[in-house]
Amino acid sequence: MSLSARLLAASALALGLAAAPAVAQDARTVREAEQLRDRALRDNVAYELVSELTTRFGPRLAGSDSEQASARWGADQFRAMGFDNVAIEEFPLALWTRGEASVEILSPFPQSLTVVSLGGSIATPAEGIEGEAAIFETYQQLLDQPEGSLTGKIAVVLQDTVQAQDGRGYGATSPVRGNGPTEAAKRGAVGYVLRSLGTHDHRFAHTGATRVGEGTVPAFAMSPPDADQLRRMIRLSDQPVRMRLFSTAGFTADSKSQNVIGEVRGSGAPDEVIVIGGHLDSWDLGTGAIDDGAGVAITAAALKLIEDMPRKPRRTIRVVWWGSEEVSQPPPAQGLAGARFYAASRTAEMANHVAVSESDFGAGPIYSLTLPAGAA
Ligand SMILES: [Zn+2]
Repeated sequence: MSLSARLLAASALALGLAAAPAVAQDARTVREAEQLRDRALRDNVAYELVSELTTRFGPRLAGSDSEQASARWGADQFRAMGFDNVAIEEFPLALWTRGEASVEILSPFPQSLTVVSLGGSIATPAEGIEGEAAIFETYQQLLDQPEGSLTGKIAVVLQDTVQAQDGRGYGATSPVRGNGPTEAAKRGAVGYVLRSLGTHDHRFAHTGATRVGEGTVPAFAMSPPDADQLRRMIRLSDQPVRMRLFSTAGFTADSKSQNVIGEVRGSGAPDEVIVIGGHLDSWDLGTGAIDDGAGVAITAAALKLIEDMPRKPRRTIRVVWWGSEEVSQPPPAQGLAGARFYAASRTAEMANHVAVSESDFGAGPIYSLTLPAGAA
């Protein structure tokens, strides 16, 4: 149901843009959209794609062998579905690997926390980093500290992510992860630990990318229950919290990633392009079924349904399975390496891109549609 709902939105967009203004054409377009909807509700292609992708390749960290193999598989799927101009477009990528990570409380109540390194984080020295924790309930409290005030300390931010259907809670806490380590470093901190972004209450830590470059410190996310544990510790004891951080994360090799591209050529205005797609890479800690196996599968299945219509779309509809959406890269670029490469290698064609979208928000039912100004 939910996959089909996503797919319908993409299909309706494509058909709507293909419609001629005449009333008879409108009626025909509506009828075709209804047929597409009905076929989508019976169709299981998207589910089969995401199931096979995640089973066959598991985690698909950007620049890994697994991501590269999944791209070759993806191109084979596109060819088997009969898409036009199927291609794998490679680009260079600095490979980040997670290695080992640990955070231990040394006092007042010694114990290990459940943590992961943030994506793009640097390593600690081999002996780790030991220091007193400067603990903040909110990110703003950290930002309010003057430069130099955290010298030698480990900055810890306990801020909760607020649950919201449209993800605005996650949007609000994203800077805590993206910019937190550099803001902590500016104030003299030697390490950074945050409460995992997310509203889950199980004892997994959530990775996600942080900014890469000079002037940062080793950065970790702890699971939400571990953040709550720290809250209780500072209520129970007047002693400062001391911690030891250890991580071997870092950029370890020059590698490559790639975008996988296929399209259905337009029948009337083939040079005008509508891009749909999702990102093929995932973090290394899961198989990325939702983020973003769902997105790549939904959009490819939508294009297949459109391709199978008796009437071809007027414009070209292109599906792109983006490479390396998740990981940050060293400056000047940060995230979205695949999208940046796509745009940079098509500057002359950009004016012909009529609409571009990415499906990267899971596979639940559609609850709203918002278009940018001028979308009509
Ligand atoms: Zn994503």
